[in-house]
Amino acid sequence: MTALYILLILPVLIALILAKKIIELKKGKKLADAQVSGMEISKLPAPGTVKALSILPLIDYYTDNENLKTEPGVSYLVSADDTDILLDVGFNKKKEHPSPLLHNMKALGILPSDIDMIFISHPHLDHVGGMAEQKSKTFSLSQGPVSLPNLSVYSPVTLSASRWNPGPEAQVITEPKILKEGIVSIGVIPRYLFLMGHTLENSLAINVAGKGIVLIIGCGHQTIERIIERTLALFDEPIYGIIGGLHYPVNGGRIMIGPFNIQRIVGSDKPPWVSIRESDVKSAIAAIKKVSPKIVALSPHDSSDWCIDQFKQAFGDTYVDVNVGQKIVI
Ligand SMILES: [Zn+2]
Ligand SMILES: [Zn+2]
Repeated sequence: MTALYILLILPVLIALILAKKIIELKKGKKLADAQVSGMEISKLPAPGTVKALSILPLIDYYTDNENLKTEPGVSYLVSADDTDILLDVGFNKKKEHPSPLLHNMKALGILPSDIDMIFISHPHLDHVGGMAEQKSKTFSLSQGPVSLPNLSVYSPVTLSASRWNPGPEAQVITEPKILKEGIVSIGVIPRYLFLMGHTLENSLAINVAGKGIVLIIGCGHQTIERIIERTLALFDEPIYGIIGGLHYPVNGGRIMIGPFNIQRIVGSDKPPWVSIRESDVKSAIAAIKKVSPKIVALSPHDSSDWCIDQFKQAFGDTYVDVNVGQKIVI
């Protein structure tokens, strides 16, 4: 009797939850779109430049080096002249200490004391160091003590102090902001995602002298179309590079539960039966081609091998792999 009851009630419950989520999605998407179109973005006065820039992936999904660890998360060491910026702090899915991030930093000869700035792109689990960190709205480099120097931490939302790296308080930045000569946060571009809800994400824009703007992106929930639009509104310089996550888990994903491609379901502002499609990848490629960057490097942490292949075909020699431990020198 109980089993029959559950069998009858379960589909009704699932349908009700789904209906609620779809209503929330519609409302949230409308609000996020209104926020985006209501934002007044003007050119940045004197953003400055840097002479040298390199991006060293410390955490991502692939590596060629068997001594390094990989996971479907992001942490990049962005070295702009003499400023070392840690963009995001990885996933640490297995809640380890030392975390894959600390392991890779040690293997690559990077000390926590070398970091001058931490830039959290957005507070999702694969960027703030785990599910517990996402839930408690904090960020952790590992699940054990890590001593950080007195540095600046920037985040698009309020983050409380982590028990593991308690020192630096995160400063919330939502507007476009020059963080240091030539180093800019392009400001949040809100998006409402199915299941993940209202998401605020920042990206870094580094103005490299004689070359142009290099965008370094976490998950890319803002959509690359809007990131490009924002960058063109902020700078007079051309877009020289696009590096990082753009969230196209199409025809495959990095987090599968049975047949369900979790990244595809949670990372879209459309219902799960529409979600992220091949046509979205094609329009992203078209939007990027319009600005003719000299370097395109797609993070494999939230895009599929199929998508990477599409990018390789579209961008040819301009395309660079994102591999943990492999420095991208601009
Ligand atoms: Zn991500
Ligand atoms: Zn995300």
